[in-house]
Amino acid sequence: MIIPKDNRLSPEKERELEAITGEFGISLHRIVGDHRTIYAMVGDERHELLITRLEGLDYVERVDTIQTPYKLMAKDSELANHRIRINGTVIGAGFTVIAGHCTIDPKNPSLFLESAQAVKEAGADMLRGGVWKPRTSPHSYQGDARALDILMEAKARTGLAVDTEVMDTEQLQLALDAGVDMLQVGARNALNYGLLRDIGRSIKNRPTAVLLKRGMHMGKLEEFILAAEYIAAQGNPNIVLCPRGTTPTMDGYRNHPDESITVLLKEKTWAPVIVDPSHSVGKAAYVPFACMAAAAYGAHGLIVETHVNPKAGIGDDPKQAVTPDVLARIIRDARAIHAMQAEQVQELAQAS
Ligand code: PEP
Ligand code: MN
Repeated sequence: MIIPKDNRLSPEKERELEAITGEFGISLHRIVGDHRTIYAMVGDERHELLITRLEGLDYVERVDTIQTPYKLMAKDSELANHRIRINGTVIGAGFTVIAGHCTIDPKNPSLFLESAQAVKEAGADMLRGGVWKPRTSPHSYQGDARALDILMEAKARTGLAVDTEVMDTEQLQLALDAGVDMLQVGARNALNYGLLRDIGRSIKNRPTAVLLKRGMHMGKLEEFILAAEYIAAQGNPNIVLCPRGTTPTMDGYRNHPDESITVLLKEKTWAPVIVDPSHSVGKAAYVPFACMAAAAYGAHGLIVETHVNPKAGIGDDPKQAVTPDVLARIIRDARAIHAMQAEQVQELAQAS
């Protein structure tokens, strides 16, 4: 829909609009209102250049598109019935919990192996463990490829599928070669289109999935879903969306908690939503509440930093990680809330 600044456009301006839209195979229908004439576009209006050219005209106030710019990730796309299967778990079908260290300490492998066993016993479906870490300071611990061996050892011992973050193509290749089940794209790389494309291309013929975090400065949901579209466009749509809090922060929390966007994402896309409350609130004491909230908003699961001895952890673990006993309670309560939420959705649908 093209909304001009003036109430009526001159025939020359209308001809110019027709010429531009015509170049993109779109026909224009004039809708004459009492006060204003607006123009409906009939055809595929999702061309970025078309919108840019129309918005560049000094007599156009704005251009509203009805179709979403994401063709593959949209709720009504041909991928709507796609199911992400990892190691026997279908993400999106129930309530999936991924838990484990923020960061695997390569100097202390037994700590991670212990946590892996403990999160399994607490009821987690998958294991997380940071091998490489995006750190604000180049002088902080950056990760270590030896931690990848520890992660894979934990996978072998527990039978749990594993998730780890990759930040470049070298790490991507190492993770794939090792057999990582889920590649995490962190908040700092959420709009790194080159990396998103590389990841998409490299998992094309594999069962591997991607956990795509929401960018920390991201405002629009569209931007988040379009980042997923970059991966899906390469041929493997095993993509899980992960809200993890945004900046500016909320006083007292590490970030601005954003689990509430789950309900909006579920309206727009078929992709499952797994919420990360650990990086959102940033403090272990608040994590259980954020987990409950995520379940109440209809999340398909959680990714929770969990450590057998947070004080002995590195990375975010001393501050953020919950202990396995707390994780067990989170899983019990979040699953109950998840079931209640699903029931309520059904009741509301029947009542309407
Ligand atoms: C993490 O999961 O440990 C992490 C660094 O997450 P984010 O990219 O959301 O900051
Ligand atoms: Mn972390």
